[in-house]
Order: sequence, then structure tokens, then C-alpha cells
Amino acid sequence: MYPSQGIDARPLHVAICGAGISGFAAAIALRNQGHIVELYEKASFSKEFGAAIGVPPNGTRVLNHLGYNRHRARAVDYYGVTIFRFHSCARHQEWTTVHRVDMHNELRYLAMKPDGKGTPAKLFLSSAVESCDAKNGVLRLASGKTRQFDLIIGADGIDSKIRSSVVGKVVDAPIAPKPAAIFRWCMPVEVLEGRPDLDWIMTEGIQGSRVTSSAEGHFLVSYLCRDKKVINSLAFHIDKRDQTKFPKNVASSKEEMLEEFKQYAPKYIKWIQLAEGVRHWQMRTLPVLDTWVNGHTCLIGDAAHAMFPTLGHGAAMGLEDACVLAGLLPAGTAPSQVNERLRAFEHLRKDRDEWIAHQSEIQALDPEHWGIFERSHEQQDKMMLYDAPKVAADYYNKHFAHKQAPAFLESAHL
Ligand SMILES: Cc1cc2nc3c(=O)[nH]c(=O)nc-3n(C[C@H](O)[C@H](O)[C@H](O)COP(=O)(O)OP(=O)(O)OC[C@H]3O[C@@H](n4cnc5c(N)ncnc54)[C@H](O)[C@@H]3O)c2cc1C
Repeated sequence: MYPSQGIDARPLHVAICGAGISGFAAAIALRNQGHIVELYEKASFSKEFGAAIGVPPNGTRVLNHLGYNRHRARAVDYYGVTIFRFHSCARHQEWTTVHRVDMHNELRYLAMKPDGKGTPAKLFLSSAVESCDAKNGVLRLASGKTRQFDLIIGADGIDSKIRSSVVGKVVDAPIAPKPAAIFRWCMPVEVLEGRPDLDWIMTEGIQGSRVTSSAEGHFLVSYLCRDKKVINSLAFHIDKRDQTKFPKNVASSKEEMLEEFKQYAPKYIKWIQLAEGVRHWQMRTLPVLDTWVNGHTCLIGDAAHAMFPTLGHGAAMGLEDACVLAGLLPAGTAPSQVNERLRAFEHLRKDRDEWIAHQSEIQALDPEHWGIFERSHEQQDKMMLYDAPKVAADYYNKHFAHKQAPAFLESAHL
């Protein structure tokens, strides 16, 4: 018989490995469900870097569900791809751009604030995880300490340690066959003062994103964040250097960028010449994993499906993962029910995340696909109408609330 809800009804004790966007989103969603959450983070967060990211409507839907305040995060409306429904004139839900650090701070606040729902999550900084006994929920920290949990979530990003404990072997994100890379930098809008030659940046449509592309596949993209006070720019190119010689994310310079973009018109070169604090990111996709779930452990976000940023969906997919996972684990879920919920989570999420990762890769590397997602009604709807809170609630109500096990769970081994 399918196990009933509420056996051993105490909050689940959850470890989240990695306090990035996915980890904090999972922490908020799980504390809201009444569970006890501990976050183990390798970094000290004393120096955070990052640049702005776009949050498409499907990501916004999750953020709203989590109680995110876009004003605290200083997010800016994005009208670059504004899609209207032909029959209702309605605009797809809010699309914003936000500095990654501002979004991170807002999610951290929601996960840990004393007056929210449930118990505030506890954050352990400078606490790298090393591995886990995935089946039995035993987490091993790099310090050598071990702790037992009802649920371990690997949200430790593209170089995840928890991933090998889940899949049983090391799987890394390889250098892409065409090594795509991005220079990223942020500048305050004041740098434009007294520069009428650069007026075009603010006057020619930066409320959306400014995209200037070359025949060789270079893209220069700029958009605003931080209450329109900061301009975020990224410069996409195929990097012809030996990618094994430097790290995935490394400090770079405007000189390196100018060399790569030297064929651009003087109008654009002048903008690049102002750049400070440039970083260079290799773009990598994680191969499709056999599974994201093992016993009491699962993977979410970049740890499960790191993808190219071409469709601006990496963070949004981590948000969706977190929301669906927590939606399947309401208060009263017993530790003995965790594995079936994790397998339901994988069933709901894996195909979608892998499809978006694949679309992001071909969008970047295959010129025939450039821009197709903006033209295809089917692709837009599949990406942006996805309603993660509803997906989880519908599935939970159909298969778990009424104790009718989904077929794939009945036939599988725990
Ligand atoms: C150039 C670029 C542009 C992008 N633009 C967009 C965009 O417009 N829209 C969008 O949705 N996405 C975008 N993305 C993708 C997005 O940034 C990522 O998908 C997202 O940040 C992943 O979040 P995460 O929490 O899963 O992983 P991460 O952000 O990598 O967080 C992982 C966390 O785990 C910690 N950690 C790592 N190892 C350990 C360990 N052993 N123990 C404990 N902690 C550990 C890390 O310190 C980190 O805090 C972009 C990415 C890039 C590179």
C-alpha cells in the first residue's frame, strides 16, 4: 500500500549544500513548508562578484511565490523581448534584470529572516562539503565532520561535489567543442556624464537589451540593473585560445576585450574602452546525468544542469527546481517518504531542464538557431508559461494527497 501522509510527522531536517540562488530559493521554500534547513556554503561571502542576470517570467513566478521583493533587489523592468498573447493582449508576466548579488541578498534575507514562516534557515559560511552517503543522508564536510539529515540537496553549482556522490562517478562540465566565452562587466551610469558620444547607450533602447552582433558570432549586450543606476554589459565570442590554460571564471581586462572586438565600429569601441573590473567566463554545459536522485539526496540548479547563458534561463531553472522540490514536501512528509518525493521531483524536472540546456547550447553554437526562441511561439510558451508552484501542487494533489502512487514509483526500487 502507498504510505500515508503524516507518519512520524516532524519537520524534515534538511542540509542544502551551496548557498547560491538555487540553494537559497530551496531554503525559503522548505522553511515555508515548516522544515528545518541548514545551508553549508564554501565561500565566506566577504567579497561577492557577479554581474546582472535576466529573470524571465517563469522565474518571476517562482520569486513571487517565495515573497521576493523586487524593489529591495533594485530590479529593473526588461522590455527586450516583450511578448503579448494574441487573443488577450496580456503581456507575459514580468521580466526583469537584476544584479546577481542583489537577488542573492534578497533571497538570503527571505531564507533567514526571523519573522518569516517556519524556522529561519541557518547558514554556515566557509563550510565546504566534501561528499555524502547519498542513500542514507550522511553529509561529509571538508573539515571531516559528518552529519545525518532526512534530505541532502546538492546546490553546489557547476563544480558540485555532491554530484559524484549522487551519480556514483565524477562528471564534469567539459570545454565546449566551439569554446564560447563571455566578458562581463558593470559600470555606474555616471560614467556617461560629459560623454555625448556615448549617449546612444541610454537613448537607443537599453530598457530592453542592446544587442550588437557580428558575422563571426560576436555579441555585445548591455542592460540596466540596480534601479537603472548600473549598466551591465557582456561580450560573447568564440575564444580561440587554449581553454585548458586558464580557469572558467577569471579576471580579465578591457585590453583583452578590445583585441577580441577590434572589428567593431568606433562607437562601440568607446564603450569597451571605459570598462573596469572585466571578468572572463567560459561557457560550459554539463552532460546529461543518468540521475539527479539517490536515496535521501538530490541535485538542483547548476549542480544538476549547468547550461550556457544564451537563453538567460540558468538561474530561472534553479528557481523552478527549488519550488517544485519543496512543493512535493509539505509539512508532515515523513523521512521514509523523502525518496519517492525526490523521484517525483526528478520526473517533473529533468526533461525540462535538459531541454532548456540543449536549446541554450544550440542557440549559442549553431548560427541557424540564433534568435529562434524569440520567433517561435511554441518555444516561448514552453519556456515562459511554466508555472512551477502549480506544477508541484497539481502533481502532489493527484499522486500524493490522495495516496495514489504514480505508476513510475510503483514499479521502481527505492
Ligand atoms: C555570463 C553568464 C550570464 C548569465 N545570465 C543569466 C541570465 O540572464 N538569466 C539566468 O537565469 N541565468 C543566467 N546565468 C546562469 C546563472 O548565473 C546560474 O545558472 C545560476 O547562478 C546558478 O545558480 P546555482 O545556485 O545553481 O549555482 P551557483 O550560483 O554556482 O551557486 C553554487 C554555490 O555553491 C557554493 N559551493 C560550491 N562548491 C561548494 C562546496 N564544495 N561546499 C559548499 N558550497 C559550495 C558556491 O560557493 C556557490 O555559492 C548566467 C551565467 C553566466 C556565467
